[in-house]
Amino acid sequence: MKPLAVLFAASEMAPWVKTGGLGDVAAALPAALRRAGHDIRVLLPYYPALRVAFPAAQMLATIPALSAGLPPARLLAAEADGLPLLLLDCPELFDRPGNPYLDAHGHDQADNAVRFGLLSRVAALLGQANSPLDWQVDVVHVNDWQTALAPAFLHYEGGAASVVTVHNIAFQGCFGPEMLPRLGLPAAAWRFDGVEYHGQLSFLKAGLQFASQISTVSPTYAREIQDEHFGYGLAPLLRHRRHALRGILNGIDTALWNPAADPALAEPYAANRLAAKRGNKAALQREMGLAEGNDLPLFGVISRLTEQKGLDLLLTIADGIPHLPAQLAVLGSGDKAMEAGFKALAERHPGRIAVRLGFDEGLAHRIEAGIDCFLMPSRFEPCGLNQMYSLRYGTPPLVQATGGLADTVVDVNDASLADKTANGFVMPDGSPHALWLTMERACTVWQDKRRWQRLQQNGMRRDFSWTLAANDYLQLYRDAIAAH
Ligand code: ADP
Repeated sequence: MKPLAVLFAASEMAPWVKTGGLGDVAAALPAALRRAGHDIRVLLPYYPALRVAFPAAQMLATIPALSAGLPPARLLAAEADGLPLLLLDCPELFDRPGNPYLDAHGHDQADNAVRFGLLSRVAALLGQANSPLDWQVDVVHVNDWQTALAPAFLHYEGGAASVVTVHNIAFQGCFGPEMLPRLGLPAAAWRFDGVEYHGQLSFLKAGLQFASQISTVSPTYAREIQDEHFGYGLAPLLRHRRHALRGILNGIDTALWNPAADPALAEPYAANRLAAKRGNKAALQREMGLAEGNDLPLFGVISRLTEQKGLDLLLTIADGIPHLPAQLAVLGSGDKAMEAGFKALAERHPGRIAVRLGFDEGLAHRIEAGIDCFLMPSRFEPCGLNQMYSLRYGTPPLVQATGGLADTVVDVNDASLADKTANGFVMPDGSPHALWLTMERACTVWQDKRRWQRLQQNGMRRDFSWTLAANDYLQLYRDAIAAH
């Protein structure tokens, strides 16, 4: 089939600018599509970190002020491992230190409507006949609210097919109605079936309304966000557009997360060399000050400490862990009350429960390798990465049945053991009691070494590479062109 020309527009890209899953996807998916022979180029703001990484970016085009409220800008070209980057250079909007969305006090930057209005407007422009580039785009692929206004421009002015991907529906980019003319949208767009959303201009709603196709980062999350409880107000629109909506599970970086060649580990191991995982458990116990030995199962957590991640459920029951009996290793940071709760928990149970507050990439790898069972009782999880890292590291995850967790973790029972899909533990509901019962069940299965090894090997066999997801995105692009 004919190679596709796709503009991938995003507000962050790992390793330069990353606040969440979108940053990883923006790095991995375009690279995988490029490897498959397609012409993918990534549009990003020229943030300080990109100025440092690509100081000699080549001038491609000047972009005049596209509307009353948008400043002129320049488009620069650079290349990251063969992947073309289009850098949107507008120093007054993007050359600022710190988080790409928040100011030093943790508040939204005051001019985010203009900053990401410009990014969206330029994404649309590159898919239109008057694009300053000599490049005919088949699909404009936008991500989260920061680029989601592009499909509205393409709708009202004409242009390429478009796709919007939702990485987290909780963030929607809502601004005052005065932004409509300032960003250059027609008055006719101020409608319930336009860009208007409860008296505001919503970038994400605009994308969901007008994109040729919609995707999110797991099949279960695609269903969940059509439900009021998960949809943050956008469920009715998503139900209306359900035939254009699908979930595509993210891949993981299988080179970075590879227990057979992970420089952070005490001993490398693989599905057919699982005994070596034991040495990583001992090393982790020493590193974190836990009693050394393999007579108890070791549970672990690596997470932002927030309600979303369900770690308040764990705190509620965690004083029982030594009686299971089991051990617990926690690495996390976030909510201050939760941080204090975990710190006090570890102080009450020295040798059995260890907690490290902070962000530590190397320790995250050693925990994945050294623990027996990974706890991820999230209340919602659009995709989730850690459960996939755990499966790859022979560390069965214990999860709530939500979003990407439901799509990757298969509860162990006789049937799932027989058909070789069992790879972890799924809580029967979202209560602390359910977490406790499921941890008890995990301890029982852990005692049966042969059953446990089957769980580990089932998880380690699964393919989490981006190649699978890239194929699904190609189909999404083709469907977007057909629907356009
Ligand atoms: P989310 O993006 O919602 O935080 P994910 O599971 O999708 O959750 O991704 C979290 C990523 O951040 C994983 O790569 C995880 O290992 C990493 N991570 C989270 N907290 C820490 C921490 N304290 N130290 C090191 N890595 C962490």
